[in-house]
Amino acid sequence: VNEEAVGPIDASLVPRFAGVRTFARLPSVGDVTGPGVAVLGAPFDGGTTFRSGARFGPAAVREASVLLRSYNPDIGVAPFATVQVADAGDAAVNPVDIEAAHIAIESAAGELNAGGWSVVGIGGDHSVSLPLARAAAARCGSALGLIQLDAHTDTWDSYFGSRLTHGTMFRRAIEQGVIDPHRSVQIGLRGSLYSTGDEGDNRALGFRTVSARQLDTQGVDHALDLVAELATGAVYLTVDIDVLDPAFAPGTGTPEVGGLSTRELLALLRGVAVGTNGRLVAADVVEVSPPYDPAGVTALAAANAAYHIVSMLAAQRAG
Ligand code: MN
Ligand code: MN
Repeated sequence: VNEEAVGPIDASLVPRFAGVRTFARLPSVGDVTGPGVAVLGAPFDGGTTFRSGARFGPAAVREASVLLRSYNPDIGVAPFATVQVADAGDAAVNPVDIEAAHIAIESAAGELNAGGWSVVGIGGDHSVSLPLARAAAARCGSALGLIQLDAHTDTWDSYFGSRLTHGTMFRRAIEQGVIDPHRSVQIGLRGSLYSTGDEGDNRALGFRTVSARQLDTQGVDHALDLVAELATGAVYLTVDIDVLDPAFAPGTGTPEVGGLSTRELLALLRGVAVGTNGRLVAADVVEVSPPYDPAGVTALAAANAAYHIVSMLAAQRAG
């Protein structure tokens, strides 16, 4: 327990629907003495190739996070009392220049890292994982293992001639020495592809995969065994909310049917938290597109995924 940690606004004094929105009604980074775990918005969607709108993701996830309470029974930790958790606001991204936006995100994350904070990014389209992971890898001084929960590999080479998009950034991350594919697992892959070679191209990079179809027959535990085996050392965790079935997460840029339930996603995150052999250094939850999320269920799933991740980092920092 960190006696100094400033927790969320007391919901027995100020109701959860009142007040200025921060993640889980926590204080801002500037209002507390850290370091601890910082939630950083990356409101950029200029890397999307289909439906846009993820630039509004951080605001929607904060809005959906007000019901998060202080104790996480799945992971067995009260994250906000264990370490200082705080909201770092949003990186000031240029909405029409992906390279400038990525520099702004990397610099915001890098500043937090330099102050000793662990960063949980909230997207934004999935391209924001590249600058977030780059900042984390720079902090560690080495390439990171990757746990990627996603319907897509995001390892294609280019779209429309652009090499920097939300479908190509993990190939860039390997080229830049940010991600070590041999310590990486992609879980939840599915959907139609461009050609018969796509799966082989991805595997040739070194990734191990668990498709949605394999989850049908082998279950979450098999996927977690693979995570425990491969994702060792310093690890980055990324949750593309389109790993969920569109029934659970309609508000996303590139929906694919036949996906995970929210319960399966939480089971995977819990399993990573309690069973990992790696050290989680940073993470993100991305691709929430509020214009396609009329009931707010996608943002709610993302807020709870972020809460599990924050809990994981809090337990790890305390232990
Ligand atoms: Mn995806
Ligand atoms: Mn993705």
